[in-house]
Amino acid sequence: MISFLHVSKTYPGGTVALSDVNLKISKGEFVFLTGASGAGKTTLLKMIYMDEFPDKKSKGQVLIDFDKEHFDSQKISLRRIQALRRKIGIVFQDFKLLSDRTVYENVALSLLVSTDYTQAEIKKRVLETLSTVGIMQKKSAMPAELSGGEQQRVAIARAMIHSPHLLIADEPTGNLDPENATEVYNIFQKINATGTAVIMATHNPSFYNRATYRHLVMKQGILNYDNPASKLAF
Ligand code: ADP
Repeated sequence: MISFLHVSKTYPGGTVALSDVNLKISKGEFVFLTGASGAGKTTLLKMIYMDEFPDKKSKGQVLIDFDKEHFDSQKISLRRIQALRRKIGIVFQDFKLLSDRTVYENVALSLLVSTDYTQAEIKKRVLETLSTVGIMQKKSAMPAELSGGEQQRVAIARAMIHSPHLLIADEPTGNLDPENATEVYNIFQKINATGTAVIMATHNPSFYNRATYRHLVMKQGILNYDNPASKLAF
């Protein structure tokens, strides 16, 4: 589903964030991405939703395949990048909710701007998604009225509203206490169990040390360690 072929990234100013990264991730996988701060995790994730691109001179390439849809970093238009992002849900450490909208509106927004759905369909979908992440009872609340754990659940609901093929989470539990962090992680596992691939960058060893999921480790821009889940399981 995701292929990185010789992907390198040097930012203006000369920082090498990724150095010849080669990687394949399959449909439905759960993948942990770890590494020290500055190791290149966020840059690697941004390459997947094409917010960053491999250095031109390195000829690196990111290929994404969602069923019959193909996306190639070397020849993608802005319109196709938008299409790609509708198939990827993204969750950040700092939630990024709209502070002047209710929980319901935050989750519904991307459906409301599309012409593909009736009001009744939008309502059904939003309420189902809020219920999946266990935040239904707060649907009329404003983000400031919620705890960090609740805000992150809303952000996950928003990310899942288009039933994406892939959920990317960049340090999603970094601002949460251990109890809420575990609850959020449990939601990712539940989402993965329904067939959505999950890539989660995290510093929390209590997740990746106990799980049998695949584990990628970045070190100074290099993909240093890739332990496929299948090897751990046997
Ligand atoms: P991580 O997510 O593992 O903390 P990042 O991918 O954010 O790592 O960053 C990798 C390196 O690239 C760091 O040295 C960081 O300072 C640098 N970097 C990240 N984004 C930019 C940017 N937009 N411009 C310049 N340097 C950047």
